[in-house]
Amino acid sequence: MTDDNNPFGGFSISMIDEPTDSAPTAATGGPSVIAEAGGHADAKVVIIGSGPAGLTAAIYAARANLEPIVLAGSAPGGQLMLTSDVENFPGFPDGIQGPELMAAMRSQAERFGTRFVDADIDRVDLSGRPFRVWARGVEYRAQAVIVATGASALWLGLDSETRLRGRGVSACATCDGFFFRDREIAVVGGGDTAFEEATYLTRFATRVHLLHRRDTFRASKIMVERALEHPKIEVHPNVAVEEVLGEDKVHGLRLRDTVTGETREMPIEGLFIAIGYQPNTAAFRDWLEVDEKGYLVVHDETGSAIDGVFIAGDVHDHRYRQAVTAAADGCKAAIDAERWLEAQGITEAATSTAW
Ligand SMILES: Cc1cc2nc3c(=O)[nH]c(=O)nc-3n(C[C@H](O)[C@H](O)[C@H](O)COP(=O)(O)OP(=O)(O)OC[C@H]3O[C@@H](n4cnc5c(N)ncnc54)[C@H](O)[C@@H]3O)c2cc1C
Repeated sequence: MTDDNNPFGGFSISMIDEPTDSAPTAATGGPSVIAEAGGHADAKVVIIGSGPAGLTAAIYAARANLEPIVLAGSAPGGQLMLTSDVENFPGFPDGIQGPELMAAMRSQAERFGTRFVDADIDRVDLSGRPFRVWARGVEYRAQAVIVATGASALWLGLDSETRLRGRGVSACATCDGFFFRDREIAVVGGGDTAFEEATYLTRFATRVHLLHRRDTFRASKIMVERALEHPKIEVHPNVAVEEVLGEDKVHGLRLRDTVTGETREMPIEGLFIAIGYQPNTAAFRDWLEVDEKGYLVVHDETGSAIDGVFIAGDVHDHRYRQAVTAAADGCKAAIDAERWLEAQGITEAATSTAW
């Protein structure tokens, strides 16, 4: 993908077997200004977020003649921009690179008239219609809003970890575990997710090292006991990752003992970071309900506590966290928004070809 018009042009990363020279950079779309700062723009539907949920919602809304505006965020394309081979999205028997899949979804949405703005929203006013959303000084007014701001995986914050993302470093065992058949790998974390992921990864890896900074775990006792008894899992308490070793692919870790300060190297070929996710809900907290983990709460599939505001994807779903489930949610949210707009008399009934 080298086309200059491609919103994710030139972005290509590959996994451990296929090193590449191109470093992963968060490419954004080209200039996409709908209104100047201080101005405003009106739309029947504004979609916030451009991961699989937001882009699928855009495809459906655009094909229903709703002329949506997508406020794509500062990470256009969402989480799949951080990974290489996606082998579980239906329709790609040989797999597809995450950025390529997102570029294709985006051009599919553009083809039907979706307008994009690659900016984060700062605040919203959902007190009444038109709903108001602000991004980069522009006010976007919409009769319906679809929130698809996703969640961000938490990372350790090491330069080496960032450089090797998609080349042996991952934050999704369900997505990437398959690539580590017959390899020795490590998982970082001390909660249920880390223990679940370590157990899941034993299906593929020869050995899974579970690394945790402390000697107590947030994970439930039963999960810890299962891991301690598992012949393929080795639990290492009081250990912090100082550096991920490798140029084009991971070949080890430099670890520090958090009690003695001693450092040592551990040869491994994959590293899974399982220290949690942060749902991107900051702008909505005064308006929409969040659960105890900070995720938005949905009612009746995609609805929120505010009529006309719909929710899709990982911003509410901490159970499945998959591109295909997020995309399905985006489809549902667009259909629900369209039917709601129609019921309000804002749009006419969708034609039979719209969906
Ligand atoms: C390393 C990794 C590998 C993965 N591999 C796979 C895989 O192989 N297969 C699979 O099915 N799934 C995979 N996943 C999971 C998958 O990426 C997610 O489930 C999916 O992307 C969720 O889609 P989403 O649209 O809900 O949110 P996201 O993809 O998180 O997108 C959220 C969007 O919202 C935008 N946004 C956030 N805040 C704001 C704001 N304030 N204003 C405007 N926009 C905002 C962001 O810029 C982004 O565009 C992987 C995840 C990770 C982290």
